[in-house]
Amino acid sequence: MNLVSLKEILKGEPKYRLKQGEDAVFKNLINDWSEATFFSLELRQKLNQFCPLAIKAEILVSKTKDNIKTKILLDDGAQIESALIRHNDGRNTVCVSSQVGCPLACEFCATGKMGFKRNLIAIEIVEQVIFFSRLLKKEKERVTNVVFMGMGEPFLNYENVMEAIKILNNKNGLNIGARHISVSTIGIIEGIRKFSKEKLQINLAISLHASNNNLRRKIIPANNKYPIELILEAVNEYIKKTKRQVMFEYLLIENVNDSDDHAFELAKLIKKPLYFLNIILYNSTGVFKSPSTKRVMVFKDILTKKKVKFSQRYRFGQDIKSACGQFITKTCL
Ligand code: SAH
Repeated sequence: MNLVSLKEILKGEPKYRLKQGEDAVFKNLINDWSEATFFSLELRQKLNQFCPLAIKAEILVSKTKDNIKTKILLDDGAQIESALIRHNDGRNTVCVSSQVGCPLACEFCATGKMGFKRNLIAIEIVEQVIFFSRLLKKEKERVTNVVFMGMGEPFLNYENVMEAIKILNNKNGLNIGARHISVSTIGIIEGIRKFSKEKLQINLAISLHASNNNLRRKIIPANNKYPIELILEAVNEYIKKTKRQVMFEYLLIENVNDSDDHAFELAKLIKKPLYFLNIILYNSTGVFKSPSTKRVMVFKDILTKKKVKFSQRYRFGQDIKSACGQFITKTCL
């Protein structure tokens, strides 16, 4: 799919033609311009040639059928991965990538190991959602939620991510509510500050993963530039401005950040009324191990005793390497 020259091609047409074209793509989810019969045959052919709508993708479905991963081939040959998570409460969440690869090189993340290739443009981010929207349309369902938790660091591609969110949120298009869109960041402070000023009510998630800087810098190289106290300062400003809850993600890794002391230290950090903690179990990327069920229970018991508000993320799609942190594509290896 490539919509880069859509405006250019429709330039000579009456203004409403562009809106018709965009509605066809984002609202009616057409697969091919031949379906846009309100355009002349000549225009449809031209659009098919210069703005193809086909999405080149491979698909993998998990055994439980509630997780579908796709590998999308972009125009320049780069590959990205996205996933659809079908919750049993009717929500259909798409996890999108914001970059090809990632420059952060976190120890526990497969994407981090493949390096960084380039930023995605807005429409390449939206394309991932359109792919699943077309799929769900066949079952008369739609994408209800989008999380920026795939490959890449969204706040290192800020402008494109925001442009994509505006397209996703458009009532006349995909119509995904701002409150149903979440952006997860390693804690890029400049990004959090800009995000505070956005008019949309999008959710913010912070990948914390450690209860102190010494430990965090070992698994997250970016902690040298963005240590915990500076992140929390930016988050507090965000909360002051937006009055919105912020989610802190904590990946539990055996013998790395899962001790009783870590739990007590974490409880001290997550103490503000609008802080919310999300415990994630490490999905294998071949480097570390996930803690035992008993260890996870003890860790969570401490958090409960310390009155920390938290939830645990349900694991999806491990069999198809579609779970958090398992996205990797060959082109950059
Ligand atoms: N760069 C952004 C978004 C991508 S990661 C960020 O760091 O937040 C999305 C989520 O998946 C983050 O919370 C990330 O830390 C988590 N994650 C990464 N590797 C993982 C793994 N091996 N198992 C489980 N979660 C992982």
